[in-house]
Amino acid sequence: MSSADASKSNNAAPEAVKPTNFLRQIIESDLEKGTHLQRRWGGNPGDAQHHRQGQPDPAKIRTRFPPEPNGYLHVGHAKSICVNFGLARDFAGTCHLRFDDTNPVKEDQEYVDAIIDAVHWLGFDWKDADGHENLYFASNYFDFMYRAAVYLIEQGLAYVDEQSADDMKANRGDFTRPGVNSPFRDRSVAENLQRFADMKDGKLEDGAAVLRAKIDMASPNINLRDPAIYRVRHAEHHNTGNQWCIYPMYTFAHPIEDALEHITHSFCTLEFEDQRPFYDWLLDHLREGGLIDAPQPRQYEFARLNLTYVVTSKRKLKHLVDSGLLNGWDDPRMPTIFGLRRRGFTPASIRNFCDRIGVTKDYSWIDYSTLEGCLREDLENQAHRAMVVLDPVKLELTNWAEVFGSADHLEQCTLPALPHAAEGEAVPERHFTLGREVWIEREDFAEVPPKGYKRLFPGNKVRLKGGYVIECTGAEKDADGNVTKVLATVVPDTKSGTPGADSVKVKAAITWVGAADGVEAEVRLYDRLFTDAQPDAGGKDYLALMNPDSLKVITAYVEPSLKAAQPDDKFQFERFGYFVADRKDHSAEKPVFNKITGLKDSWGK
Ligand code: ATP
Ligand code: MG
Repeated sequence: MSSADASKSNNAAPEAVKPTNFLRQIIESDLEKGTHLQRRWGGNPGDAQHHRQGQPDPAKIRTRFPPEPNGYLHVGHAKSICVNFGLARDFAGTCHLRFDDTNPVKEDQEYVDAIIDAVHWLGFDWKDADGHENLYFASNYFDFMYRAAVYLIEQGLAYVDEQSADDMKANRGDFTRPGVNSPFRDRSVAENLQRFADMKDGKLEDGAAVLRAKIDMASPNINLRDPAIYRVRHAEHHNTGNQWCIYPMYTFAHPIEDALEHITHSFCTLEFEDQRPFYDWLLDHLREGGLIDAPQPRQYEFARLNLTYVVTSKRKLKHLVDSGLLNGWDDPRMPTIFGLRRRGFTPASIRNFCDRIGVTKDYSWIDYSTLEGCLREDLENQAHRAMVVLDPVKLELTNWAEVFGSADHLEQCTLPALPHAAEGEAVPERHFTLGREVWIEREDFAEVPPKGYKRLFPGNKVRLKGGYVIECTGAEKDADGNVTKVLATVVPDTKSGTPGADSVKVKAAITWVGAADGVEAEVRLYDRLFTDAQPDAGGKDYLALMNPDSLKVITAYVEPSLKAAQPDDKFQFERFGYFVADRKDHSAEKPVFNKITGLKDSWGK
């Protein structure tokens, strides 16, 4: 665990007064009733006895974010992070970061590190008020889980089932048919203890037996038809090595993890609603048996985030990376937290997005433009402005030497870097030069202007933004008729910011970059990854719906102020949108900028 200052929490400050939602109401009601007032906290996770010896819990509530360290976090996880860490912060509580590593899949430390990094980057941490770090691994609870399983057996609440997998499946029934009791269901406690010990001691093969909770094979909730709680799996675990060859099932492990960590409110997505009765069944029994403390954790479900124009299934994201369709987990088109970060999204914009979409119990799709809107809001008053030319053509001011006495003369120009000053500060400025030759956008010249065109065409005057008014005189063309250079004359005494600036009225000001001090840069124009709003809904083939134009790489000219850009610095390129200096590839020698989003929502319009 890395964290610079253990005494100071970096939990992001609440962005604004939040509208209430049903989860906040549940917490408010618990605080009012004093549901958790008597809770004690043993300083770290543990059983009832451990916590009873501790102090009254300094955290008013405890929540947790419980990722499986088997992949990179995506924007859906960001919602869960904002819900869990945000509620803990808002109610003087603590949110634990718990790695749910009860599956003996080969763990990648890479994923653990990446998840820690992502949650920190989003602006959250897992410290108690006294600086104690609540970072936990569920695999550290295997001993207790085993003890809990033995307890259930002793109470006649669990049995070792040795039916074949097929029989077990067939006997479970379905939505219309009740299940059928296993022939092993009425084994004696002694026999069950023996067989469970055999499972643990490696005497049974994978799949030969499972431990099942003994509940009700006729329950309308299939999750209560004697769910499996332990299975045999001869596999090495990244944390516990070969100590175990039986592993708890998620439905059994998760409530126990919550209970040992004294979680007060266990928030999860709606898919787990049907598992809540088992969650309560299990914790009720463990509490009655004195293994865990009262009040036990309660589970509450909210709707998961579905974001248009992306996919958020780990499996599908992995495919996009493994197949080389995208360039890694942090490809700026990936809806992973690292993809969003590299694309230029700010932590505040993602947190605001999560607050704005709120938590409900209704299944819905959130439009990707909502996320982009939050980014624009965040950057509007922060991102320095800059002029760039993305599709350059040269423009020559043919009377330059005549007006300024030398063809090489450079006029110093200044524009504000932000439209408004921050409180108590001066408006920051940017400086650049205007000379005889400048780069302009190809589309800013038309030999024959279309109706309503206000930019450069022979005889028309425009202002070079922050510079002079110029009058177009024509263009040079190559043999194929392509414009190779636009020609114009500078109108003396019209420089922006001087008394004569308004002496000549123009209908347009165009963006430009000086040929003398413009900087060549690679610009990566990113767009939506899919052309369909719900690329993987309803059995659609998401791969066939990938946007072929999701990335265009161009060489552009950018104003000299951008030479100072550091990786991750964000800018508003005037008229084009928000861009970020790529965190991996950008350098002063070889600038690379990623397009985050345009200035307005233009998709589908
Ligand atoms: P995936 O389906 O992409 O593999 P997962 O749910 O299996 O994701 P976990 O690591 O188990 O991944 O997720 C950690 C937490 O994040 C869980 O509590 C889960 O409910 C939550 N979560 C995952 N996806 C979303 C989503 N789209 N919206 C809200 N919460 C989510
Ligand atoms: Mg999961």
